[in-house]
Amino acid sequence: MTKSSISDALKDAGIEILTCLQCGTCSGSCPSGRYTEMATRKIVRNACAGTDVLHDPDLWLCTTCYTCQERCPREIKITDAILAIREIAVHEGIMLPAHKKVSQLVLECGHAVPINDIVKEKRRELEMDELPETVHKYPEALSEVQTLLGCCGFDELVAGSHE
Ligand code: SF4
Ligand code: SF4
Repeated sequence: MTKSSISDALKDAGIEILTCLQCGTCSGSCPSGRYTEMATRKIVRNACAGTDVLHDPDLWLCTTCYTCQERCPREIKITDAILAIREIAVHEGIMLPAHKKVSQLVLECGHAVPINDIVKEKRRELEMDELPETVHKYPEALSEVQTLLGCCGFDELVAGSHE
């Protein structure tokens, strides 16, 4: 992406970030930032400046709690911006390995966290059906899930990711 294209893309999506005054309210409000190196203000600043925000691992530490968005004095849709930037990153093939793995599991078996023998045993102890009402119980539905994921290009997106 070109220098200004992130903020332009966000603006096209109805998200204006260039009014940020770098007050830091977002960073000070961020629960994720209390436990990680994530600085919301820095993400906004870099997106405004056109520096490489797409490869910033902090992008993926946001829990999308929306606290920053509620408190921003400029009413910037910060959380929506982070989600939109993530979407751009993924479409450019930039995805964390763990996310890619989870995505591939959804593609392969219809579950991000496939059931295993331990979970099956727990379910039996709780007098539940061993298998949930998903593709685990109805494996014939898996091809439908895969067709849907293929129709929206999710399969290629995951296969093409290289991060
Ligand atoms: S709270 Fe809003 S104005 Fe303040 S630094 Fe964060 S994004 Fe910028
Ligand atoms: S939405 Fe994300 S960036 Fe904003 S306060 Fe919550 S965790 Fe932090």
